[in-house]
Amino acid sequence: MQFADRLQNVETSAIRELFKLLGTPGIVSFAGGFPDSAMFDVDGIREASARALDEPGALQYGATEGYEPLRSQLSAFMATKGVEVAPQGLIVTTGSQQALDLIGKTLISPGDKVIVEGPTFLATIQCFRLYGAELVSAPIDADGVKTDELEALIQEHRPKFVYLIPTFGNPSGALLTRERRKKVLEMAVRHGTVIVEDDPYGDLYFTDAPPPPSLMAMTPEVPGSRELLVHCGSMSKVLSPGLRVGWMIAPPALLANAVMCKQFSDAHTSTFAQATAAQYLKSGRMPATLANVRKVYAERCRAMAESLRSELGGAITFTQPQGGLFFWARLTGANGGPTDASVFAKKAIEQLVAFVPGAPFFAANPDVSTLRLSFATADVARIQEGIARLAKAL
Ligand code: PMP
Repeated sequence: MQFADRLQNVETSAIRELFKLLGTPGIVSFAGGFPDSAMFDVDGIREASARALDEPGALQYGATEGYEPLRSQLSAFMATKGVEVAPQGLIVTTGSQQALDLIGKTLISPGDKVIVEGPTFLATIQCFRLYGAELVSAPIDADGVKTDELEALIQEHRPKFVYLIPTFGNPSGALLTRERRKKVLEMAVRHGTVIVEDDPYGDLYFTDAPPPPSLMAMTPEVPGSRELLVHCGSMSKVLSPGLRVGWMIAPPALLANAVMCKQFSDAHTSTFAQATAAQYLKSGRMPATLANVRKVYAERCRAMAESLRSELGGAITFTQPQGGLFFWARLTGANGGPTDASVFAKKAIEQLVAFVPGAPFFAANPDVSTLRLSFATADVARIQEGIARLAKAL
């Protein structure tokens, strides 16, 4: 079979190979990017889906833009996070993954430059490459993308857009500071550059106060920035990824083109899932659900930080994340320890513990000493056990 040329730009991820080993019995896995199924509010979703079934449109074809009651609920949900958006100002997508795909489909022509963070979400790298993007990697630190470097790259490469995960990035766990957020919006306006803000983790914060507002929430501070900003949200990490409910807020012209492309792709996101999500948001259970996931993940995050410090000591460095699902760490090679995370990953699997090496998350200049550890799915005791095993693999 002769496949399309565009497939030559992508390869199946190295991580997939590793995932095959995760079925090994007894393994403690820090490798996945999943939320913990034990934390899904099954009772709340059951009630919401029962009520959804009583709605006339829930089992019928629906509008490509999204199910109206859900668009209204999402508009209200975004308002609680400081974003003013009318129901017509957003579309519902089949997970935020589809929003990213629609952004690629509508904006990228082969050879276009797109700036992403180094490291960034692997599926985005693959998706944008599929559309022929040439990816440019902007360096980050624990405070998110380095804005001076980002601006220099924008000036040099004139990208079609910049893709950022400003709040608790996957895989970086990094949190873009408020000051840098403002700078990003200002440079967007200065250079007329579109910014895509991917925000599936913003609600998963472990501090008493929420993180800085999203870029979208800050657009009123920087005149002209709203017309250049695209925001992707998702129910996956806070409610359930199986529902496949995400959304995209964007300028009207982009939304219109995305809707056109979505028509050819899945016609619309499952009306039943949308009606269920709408009923769930309407039920008023979301604040308690969010409080619960924050509390549980915060405990696991703290446990992982403590275990990493006590068990691995100087062998790795990391910044303890303030939210999200991931630790991003770097092997130091101290005392003859490993420096290549893919070699270390194989030794770790022999000790029945798994994580993901960091190199594939870089669109360019991979740092082979980096690795990603998720603290989401193992409870505190399993985390302690897993990190102790990791120490044995050193
Ligand atoms: N963006 C980022 C940064 C992610 O980590 C994920 C999920 N791993 C997604 C988007 C896609 O999530 P979903 O399609 O489930 O909304």
